[in-house]
Amino acid sequence: MEENTNTTPSNFIRDIIEDDLKTGKHAKIHTRFPPEPNGYLHIGHAKSICLNFGIARDYKGQCNLRFDDTNPTKEDVEYVDSIQEDVKWLGFDWEDRMYYASDYFQKLYDFAVKMIKEGVAYVDNSTAEEMKNQKGTPTEPGTNSPCRERSIEESLDLFERMKNGEFEEGAYTLRAKIDMASPNMHMRDPLIYRIKKATHHNTGDEWCIYPMYDYAHPLSDWFEGITHSLCTLEFEIHRPLYDWFLDVLHLENRPRQIEFARLNLTYTVMSKRKLLELVTEKYVSGWDDPRMPTICGLRRRGYTPESIRNFADKIGVAKRDAMTDVALLEHGIREDLNKRAPRVMAVLNPLKVVITNYPDDLTEEMETINNPEDPSMGSRKIPFCKEIYIEQDDFREDPPKKFHRLYPGSEVRLKSAYIIKCNEVIKNDKGEITELHCTYDPETKSGGSSTRSVKGTIHWVSARHGKKAEVRLYDRLFVIEDPSSHEELSFKELLNPHSLDINENCFIEPELAKAKAGDKFQFMRMGYFCVDPLSTDEKLVFNRTVGLRDSWAKLEKKDS
Ligand code: ATP
Ligand code: MG
Repeated sequence: MEENTNTTPSNFIRDIIEDDLKTGKHAKIHTRFPPEPNGYLHIGHAKSICLNFGIARDYKGQCNLRFDDTNPTKEDVEYVDSIQEDVKWLGFDWEDRMYYASDYFQKLYDFAVKMIKEGVAYVDNSTAEEMKNQKGTPTEPGTNSPCRERSIEESLDLFERMKNGEFEEGAYTLRAKIDMASPNMHMRDPLIYRIKKATHHNTGDEWCIYPMYDYAHPLSDWFEGITHSLCTLEFEIHRPLYDWFLDVLHLENRPRQIEFARLNLTYTVMSKRKLLELVTEKYVSGWDDPRMPTICGLRRRGYTPESIRNFADKIGVAKRDAMTDVALLEHGIREDLNKRAPRVMAVLNPLKVVITNYPDDLTEEMETINNPEDPSMGSRKIPFCKEIYIEQDDFREDPPKKFHRLYPGSEVRLKSAYIIKCNEVIKNDKGEITELHCTYDPETKSGGSSTRSVKGTIHWVSARHGKKAEVRLYDRLFVIEDPSSHEELSFKELLNPHSLDINENCFIEPELAKAKAGDKFQFMRMGYFCVDPLSTDEKLVFNRTVGLRDSWAKLEKKDS
């Protein structure tokens, strides 16, 4: 028996699929992920990717990657490339099955001709305005277009001439002949083809008529032998039309459309149009700005594919739209990095400490373990000397109650080193603290035999050995949970002005200077960080993936 590697929880779509396999409706499951190449993929797409590819994996089926490129004006090869990179990075493989809806333009045209011949489609020369008036309203039926009874021969001739480029944009359309009184507005003689004199990223100037999504999609599914066509809820109302095209073309072994709720995440926006605006209007540094909910943004921020796949499993698949707390996504990456990220020391806001009784020229190599969660990750040595940096926040001249770190007269343990005592605060002319003078207790070396203990332990970096680095701290991109729903303000007026905090004056352990782009660490007490792809030996740059505090875990505990 084959090992069952399926760890994904069941859901109503998997129930349908299991049933279809049991009853023999399908011998093999075939799904597809159909992005429109008009933007970069975001975490919502990741949900759809994990669903479609995950089902194919778990039921020994196949999942295609299909670019849904029926709109020539908004699409671009830059997006085609980034989408492939992102799907692969998430850990999925379409093997040799990467398709374009535009691969089917000829077949789609031929099927449209067939529909005209069967009397279920006609060429219309109503203007956009006239068509709008024919449409009716949700409570009033529409009216038939005067072109509806055009002869088949005439429609065939006009359609061919549309294809040949004889008419201007908007002069003619091809429409489905369904029912102008249908309670479903999408069934009121919807468009099948429109004229667009635009160059297509894939087919160039070969075509000047382009099929509508509602027509191209069911047929592309059928051409590829898709069994289950999974899409988001807004397409539920389009499903009768999806089925209608398959019906009137008398197609067998038909795909079935099933809708699920899209992912909405707090404190961000997920529409590609809005994300594009943020990029083109330079509110962010690009599609891969680490504050963006895009897959490349999350990757640059330090998210792992595993954490995103686990997130997709955790949120599940439902039939009703809801808002997911971004804290759940953060909880997932924290859990993942807790297991795999080595602990290191970095001081983000340095304050110099001189250990006055420590030998001037001595450097000791202090042993420290790399990850208490995983002993197999071993240990390393960090240099310690007379001059170190500590975090400004770890010192208070006037400490509040229960402050167990450094203040005049107090003692604190330096992680993996000694207990030190603060004796003197040195200030400049302006009264600003420039350094602390401390003494150390040589008996208290970590790992030694001393039993003396103090309440606080703080991190540090040798001032003589540490390397300078830039650290970028990120906060939520928007100030409210659902920036798309504000009644008066546009989403761009709700951007968080403090979403990026650049700190160029950090000190990191010398070892860390060897880290490569994408390497991930826990900076002790400061959060999880990863090396930015544009980091260089001359200028080291780290992005904070997420802080250490877990508001999600706390909530869960409270709930249980
Ligand atoms: P937008 O509305 O922002 O333009 P889209 O849905 O049109 O996005 P597509 O490229 O057409 O983007 O999406 C590809 C697939 O991903 C579709 O099957 C779509 O239903 C799915 N998808 C898009 N956004 C989400 C989301 N937020 N959650 C789950 N699935 C999504
Ligand atoms: Mg779409």
